[in-house]
Amino acid sequence: MVGSEVIKMIEELNEHYDVVVIGGGAAGLNGALMLARARRSVAVIDAGSPRNAPAEGVHGLLGREGMPPGELLERGRGEVRGYGGQVVPGEVDVVARDGDDFDVTLVDGRRTRARRLLVTSGVVDELPDIAGLREHWGIDVVHCPYCHGWEIRDQAIGVLALGPLAVHQALMFRQWSDDVVFLTHTAPPPTVEDVERLAARGIPVVNGEVVGLEVDDGRLSGVRLRDGRVIARSAVAAAPRTTVRGAFLDGLGLRPVEHPAGVGNFIPSDAGGGSDVPGVWVAGNITEPMSQVGASAAAGAMAGAQINADLINEEVRLAVEAARDPFSAKAARDPFTADAESIVSGRAASARRTVSERPQRE
Ligand SMILES: Cc1cc2nc3c(=O)[nH]c(=O)nc-3n(C[C@H](O)[C@H](O)[C@H](O)COP(=O)(O)OP(=O)(O)OC[C@H]3O[C@@H](n4cnc5c(N)ncnc54)[C@H](O)[C@@H]3O)c2cc1C
Repeated sequence: MVGSEVIKMIEELNEHYDVVVIGGGAAGLNGALMLARARRSVAVIDAGSPRNAPAEGVHGLLGREGMPPGELLERGRGEVRGYGGQVVPGEVDVVARDGDDFDVTLVDGRRTRARRLLVTSGVVDELPDIAGLREHWGIDVVHCPYCHGWEIRDQAIGVLALGPLAVHQALMFRQWSDDVVFLTHTAPPPTVEDVERLAARGIPVVNGEVVGLEVDDGRLSGVRLRDGRVIARSAVAAAPRTTVRGAFLDGLGLRPVEHPAGVGNFIPSDAGGGSDVPGVWVAGNITEPMSQVGASAAAGAMAGAQINADLINEEVRLAVEAARDPFSAKAARDPFTADAESIVSGRAASARRTVSERPQRE
């Protein structure tokens, strides 16, 4: 079989899975890894645009410090596939409940079904409309001191005020450089207390709207204000609002709410990633926009384990019902159609097989 045929087979969606994971970043792949290793049928559907794609490396990640984001995810996809999980390129358009299952439709019209969903589609950074900023995002325009602080240490940093955490961000970046200025941009001026805190740490406040970046030989050299002034800077720190990538969840009634820190919106979940909609788990930036790669991967792994536990509970319940009375599951269904009977008895039989096989596997 030639390589392209193998890839096509790997990428072809089955009709049904135990779990469909929507989003194949750190959270989704680690969730899928747990599920595939738990011998669950799992497909990761991934649109292929992880949030940190522009960055040259993933930092602050034990064991893989500085690895390019694409390489980390490529390894993850290989690990998931190594246990029989599928990673399928594609963009989910709509998700709907259909009986006990979820119906998942992709933008290109492909469809599949799943008993449970793990949603890890992340967030979008809403970059401000400043000439040149998008091109430098993740390179010398950065948002997180733990991701990039070391790389821009001792440089001239301008902190662009975009939200309620801007002063906090300036005080943070001061840990990495003693040349930090606070650019008020279009935000309300800092309070008297904040000005005092900034001044105490040697951070001047520059009032005025930033309209463009100055670039020299491909590298940032300053920011241009509307009044024409140019403030020489070799790095800009900016924390834009983040917005959940989850419009496809509308049909389930799962909608984002505002984050308490004022950084954007998020889908609330419990400690294990359980959302307000039964059968749907969320992990990674979609439920915690401030999580880094390691924390997102860990949350995905936790959610994967929780989903597996939930499926085991369901299978044990069906197996017990079937063992006590082969007709009890049927009795719970109304109307008593032949289809409903065959579905229930089929599931119970498969659950019985799963339970009876488990001791031999362990
Ligand atoms: C510029 C930048 C640099 C960063 N650097 C670091 C760093 O050095 N270290 C660090 O720890 N963290 C870093 N981060 C944070 C890091 O990006 C996040 O912690 C991480 O990406 C969160 O993982 P996730 O799986 O939740 O989401 P993502 O990585 O964003 O993955 C979500 C995936 O879901 C897919 N998706 C979205 N919608 C759909 C859909 N409808 N159907 C199918 N798939 C969909 C996307 O295409 C994407 O592939 C950085 C962030 C930024 C913005």
